[in-house]
Amino acid sequence: MKPFIDPDEIWNYINNTISTKEKVRAVIAKSLNKQRLTLEETAVLINANDPELIEEIKQGARTLKQKVYGNRIVLFAPLYVGNKCTNNCKYCGFRTENKQAIRKTLSDEELIQEVEALEDNGQKRLILVYGEHPAYSPEYIAHTVDVVYGVKKGNGEIRRVNINAAPLDIDGFRTVKDAGVGTYQVFQETYNPEAYKIYHLGGKKMDFEYRLTSLDRAQEAGLDDVGIGALFGLYDWRFEVLGLIRHTNHLEACYNVGPHTISFPRIQSASSLDMDGKYIVTDGEFARLVAILRLAVPYTGMILTARESATIRDEVISFGVSQIDGGTKLELGSYSDTKNENQDLNREQFAINDNRSLNEIIDDLIKKDYLPSFCTACYRLGRTGEHFMEFSVPGFIKRYCTPNAILTLAEYICDYAPNETAHKGWQVIEKNIETLEDEKSKIELRSRIEKIKNGNRDLYF
Ligand code: SAM
Ligand code: SF4
Repeated sequence: MKPFIDPDEIWNYINNTISTKEKVRAVIAKSLNKQRLTLEETAVLINANDPELIEEIKQGARTLKQKVYGNRIVLFAPLYVGNKCTNNCKYCGFRTENKQAIRKTLSDEELIQEVEALEDNGQKRLILVYGEHPAYSPEYIAHTVDVVYGVKKGNGEIRRVNINAAPLDIDGFRTVKDAGVGTYQVFQETYNPEAYKIYHLGGKKMDFEYRLTSLDRAQEAGLDDVGIGALFGLYDWRFEVLGLIRHTNHLEACYNVGPHTISFPRIQSASSLDMDGKYIVTDGEFARLVAILRLAVPYTGMILTARESATIRDEVISFGVSQIDGGTKLELGSYSDTKNENQDLNREQFAINDNRSLNEIIDDLIKKDYLPSFCTACYRLGRTGEHFMEFSVPGFIKRYCTPNAILTLAEYICDYAPNETAHKGWQVIEKNIETLEDEKSKIELRSRIEKIKNGNRDLYF
């Protein structure tokens, strides 16, 4: 396959696209009209450096989020299964060169304990994370997915397991698809092949193209629910934004389906990190790039993780983020082992900056008028491409997403929330029921909430 990333083409857009006030406003208007932006239009937003225009871009992203998606935020947690790794990525605490790293792969018993601890907190959606190592074969990944789905504690269960792991071959993707994985994420890290060489010093991950084409192989294997991402801080953020859009264009053009999610992690400190800081992305640039991505690909899910502080998350979430993690711990085995509260960088991939518990995050979301959701309905009913449906099918959100968010929040309140959160939670539920227009749906929804109060679980539309 011919590589679909051409650095000259991307630089050409950045260097030669003129960004006037009129152009920026026209591009924002196009996005608010629910249309995908081209590379050139995205470059218009990237090149808008006037603070007034930057504010308009952010406001555009906020409006798009409110207009299209409403106030739901889906919650999940990452679960690190194993940190053995044969690669040597300069930014990562798991790299081979980090001799201080304490290597561990959870046994089945440990995995079960971790999942039980996560279920005890109220989690329903996990992303399993692995280093790249022969021990983490597709069969092994599929096995861990099976184990996780099998853990039921009290009313707890995991209803969706996503994966962040090394690229696989087509057969490998088939194996993990058959295990019932949700989204398979592979981040390109940097879309610039020359920069890529600088950071990836050993192991299979040195092969830029094998990584770039990994989600094509996933599609060929029938796994069409894929997540892309760039690690911001490795190269010029403007290039990476256009790289992500180029990758999206490629998936749309070849498979008729874009990425399910886009992730935009920023580099955090890590044991044995070896970076010169040349491409550090400031908080201001970060806010801009999230708003630009929202406008450029208005139908995709956007993931913002606990790598970022609570303050940054508060600001950036309003630009169209659809999923955040809560109660995150990266150290292997630390959800069930609560003795050690401090982060030990030799036991984890990188440092996180938002240490709030899941309940603290839910409480805070509710206070800010968001509707926390653990919904997994579309995935389980085979309604794939749900972000696209939310975006393009009129009434989809009011018919499915808001009621399902409410039902999963009601379960959380009944099973896990302290009194104070529960009180506020019921209020937010009531407020959101009132936003539904159809009287019959409201009655049905209220009756299902009563069923949940009486002990029924896992009700969805
Ligand atoms: N080993 C798999 C791989 O490399 O694709 C799994 C990836 S890793 C466990 C998940 C992601 O974390 C990486 O793709 C990278 O983007 C990100 N990451 C690595 N080091 C990081 C750091 N120091 N700060 C923030 N994110 C980091
Ligand atoms: Fe290994 Fe992934 Fe870390 Fe690279 S980023 S060293 S492949 S775990």
